[in-house]
Amino acid sequence: MDKKKIETIGDNHLSFNIETPVLENAFEKSDEQKISAIQFHFGEIMKELGLDLTDDSLSGTPYRFGKMYVKELFYGLNPANKPRLATFQNKYGFQKMLIEKNISLDSTCEHHFLPITGNAHIAYIPKDKVIGLSKINRLVDYYSRRPQVQERLCVQILNDLQNTLETEDVIVVINAKHLCVTSRGIEDKSSSTTTTEYGGCFENIQNRNEFFNCLSLDNHPQ
Ligand SMILES: [Zn+2]
Repeated sequence: MDKKKIETIGDNHLSFNIETPVLENAFEKSDEQKISAIQFHFGEIMKELGLDLTDDSLSGTPYRFGKMYVKELFYGLNPANKPRLATFQNKYGFQKMLIEKNISLDSTCEHHFLPITGNAHIAYIPKDKVIGLSKINRLVDYYSRRPQVQERLCVQILNDLQNTLETEDVIVVINAKHLCVTSRGIEDKSSSTTTTEYGGCFENIQNRNEFFNCLSLDNHPQ
């Protein structure tokens, strides 16, 4: 790809896939092998920038960087790390909207490898299955912890919840700031990005409005 096209795709934050594009052999190496390989390569990048890795303050940085990438920021690339989402029978026959809002979200833009930080708001209307509330937060964290595009993150969370809960009646809204927009490029400090994905009864505007009204309650306390 030529450099002009690379920059255009990055700044438009375009994504072409719902699945995160990973190699077939992505998880053949152990985490420890990956950490030590990334440690080596990031050390090379630092040296290329002219940094002196024998300095006490910098000498541990390549290792810290490798460990942070594999174990923290990008643990969600590996399907083995997916949280177990135990569901329960909807014994009470609850059929109203259940909303989990202000789920904090930390992700990474795959075009610039800079942080995306914000909140997710999720609602579903149960059929036969319900899920522990904290599991929704864990699922958001899992899909966030990989190089992402916000639209794809939104769809991945939606699809997973629809499959897990065995209903189309799910809505996911993400509002987030992208450091690649606030700190470089256009350097807009105040803008944020909102993405909305939904299915089933949320195609109906009345249901969406009930959800959005509930989200705004925090901003307008009675
Ligand atoms: Zn970006």
